Amino acid sequence: MTSTSSISDAPRLRDAVADLPSYVAGRSAQTALTAALASNESHFPPLPSVVEVITAETARIQRYPNMASADLREAIALHLAVSADEVAVGPGSSGVLQQILAAVCDPDDEVMFAWRSFEAYPILAAVAGAKPVRVPLLPDEQHDLEAMAAAVSDRTRVIILCSPNNPTGVSLDPASTEDFLSKVPSRVLVVIDEAYIEFQDDSGAPDALELYRRYPNICILRTFSKAYGLAGLRVGYAIARPPVADGVRRTAIPFGVNRLAQSAAVASLAVEDEIRARVRQVRTERRRMIAALHDAGWSVTDSQANFFWLRCGDQVREQILSVLADADILARGYQGDGVRISLADRETNERVLAVLAQRERFGNQ
Ligand SMILES: *Cc1c(COP(=O)(O)O)cnc(C)c1O
Repeated sequence: MTSTSSISDAPRLRDAVADLPSYVAGRSAQTALTAALASNESHFPPLPSVVEVITAETARIQRYPNMASADLREAIALHLAVSADEVAVGPGSSGVLQQILAAVCDPDDEVMFAWRSFEAYPILAAVAGAKPVRVPLLPDEQHDLEAMAAAVSDRTRVIILCSPNNPTGVSLDPASTEDFLSKVPSRVLVVIDEAYIEFQDDSGAPDALELYRRYPNICILRTFSKAYGLAGLRVGYAIARPPVADGVRRTAIPFGVNRLAQSAAVASLAVEDEIRARVRQVRTERRRMIAALHDAGWSVTDSQANFFWLRCGDQVREQILSVLADADILARGYQGDGVRISLADRETNERVLAVLAQRERFGNQ
């Protein structure tokens, strides 16, 4: 067999894909002693009632799941007092976001978001063939909503607001958000990513559902991966006006939300009280940890999520990560920005604190 092919004949990737940064997943634990605090997962074991439902569902896995995720969409609709045609589900809210961008972005449209924010945003925007537009956070870690409104162009199709923001933990300010929404053209879809909303304190942040009722161009994005503890099953959802939600359902991979995920999510919504009790424990630990870190001399944001954020330069970031690693604790570092550490049970949080309380071991933040 003769081969005349040269390297240029090999199947080639789209430029947008070849240039992609890969999503850096938080490292997972190698040993039982390792504290895996790099992915903001729930540290609680699965709820027994949810495990029971999943176990029963395994008897049916030779069958495709319900294509429309009908029961789950009904349960979500009931939970949030919307109608099922305003609900679209997907394999994790990252999956739903991919569906959203596939539904609304033409080539070279712009997808705008604050930076630093969730690492999946620039990747999903580029995969959709759109152009990611990053608007730097303000010095107090708030979204710079004035700059974002001013950066809207004819090509802006989607603006993603992340509240509480990953990795900084800071929630949107209600007055600035309202002002921003009044300025953004109604043809632009404003996605409010509320992956950590359950952990937010009761006061202070905007009520996205209330805003959604007044601004038809809002789409709310939520997940079962964090407070509900179903990260391993992959299920999330969007709330949007029926025509948008319909588009988000049409761009889904057929049967993308599997049987176990659909039934576990429905079962989790039915035990909301147990989820709330767990969330209260995380909030209590968060208050305690942030106060202790302040006392130790760290500057730490008023996180509204299940993690805390230490903004710092690269040298201190490296020091923190390495000293934590020596203590068998995995955290997440962000080049040029800082370190994000997930909250866990009290004992694990105490291990983190024991390291960080020795403030003199680290340089200036
Ligand atoms: C974890 C997270 C998600 C959700 O991820 P899933 O795909 O639902 O597991 C979405 N947005 C942000 C900001 C996150 O941190």
